[in-house]
Amino acid sequence: MDIVLATRNKKKAEEIKKIIKEGFIGTVPVVNIFTLDDFPKYPEVVENGGTFEANAVKKAKFIAKHTGMIAIADDSGLEVEAIGRAPGVLSARYAGEPSDDKKNIEKLLQEMKDVPDEKRQARFVCCIAIAYPKGEVKTFFGHVEGIIGRQPRGEKGFGYDPVFYPEGHKRTFAEMRDDEKNAISHRAMALKELQEYLLEKRGYREMTERETGFPDSIGE
Ligand code: IMP
Repeated sequence: MDIVLATRNKKKAEEIKKIIKEGFIGTVPVVNIFTLDDFPKYPEVVENGGTFEANAVKKAKFIAKHTGMIAIADDSGLEVEAIGRAPGVLSARYAGEPSDDKKNIEKLLQEMKDVPDEKRQARFVCCIAIAYPKGEVKTFFGHVEGIIGRQPRGEKGFGYDPVFYPEGHKRTFAEMRDDEKNAISHRAMALKELQEYLLEKRGYREMTERETGFPDSIGE
C-alpha cells in the first residue's frame, strides 16, 4: 500500500520514513512511501492555522484528496515557556521568510539572552494527522521536554536541534545519532501513537481497504 508524506522538508521526511519503516514493516503492509517531491505540481499548503493540529489536518486532508492516497502530515514546533511559548506554530519562520534554521536559532538565543539557566525549559511538540481520500482524518500528539542552551552545538538534525537539550541528556539533538533522537523525539512519539492506532484500534488492512478501496491502485 502507498502512503504520501505531506512534506517537502527532506530531513523531516527522512526522519518520518525511518520511523515508519522501522515501526511498520513486518507488521503492516506498507509498500511505498512517497513525499511531496514526488508530486511537484501540488501547491504548497498555507500553514495559517492557530494550532499544530489545525495545520497538520489541513495539509493531510489536502494531499489525500489530491493524490487519492493515504496522507500523513506533521506539524511541529518549539515552545519555550520563558517567552510565552514562542515560537510555537511560527517555529519554521520565526526570523521571517524564507525559513532559515540558522537565523531562527539566532533570534531565539537573542530573545532568551536574559533568561537564567533554571528558566530555559522548552518542549518540542508534534501533531501527526492521517487523512484518507474519502475525508476521514485523525490526529496524534507527541512531545519532548528539554532545555534551551546558550549556543548551538552539533551538526545533525535540523531546525532548533543544535540548541535543544532533551531532558536528562547532556547533548543537544544535533549531537545525537538519528536513532538516539528518534527514540525520544516528539515526532517519534506521535508516530508511535499513530502506529498503535493503526495496529490495534481498528486493524490497518481492514481500514485501508474499506476507506479507500485499495489505495495501491489509485493515483498510478
Ligand atoms: P513545520 O512543521 O514544517 O511547520 O515546521 C516546524 C518547524 O519547527 C521546523 O522548521 C523547525 O524549525 C521546528 N522543528 C520541528 N521539529 C523539529 C525537530 O525535530 N528539531 C528541530 N526543530 C524542529
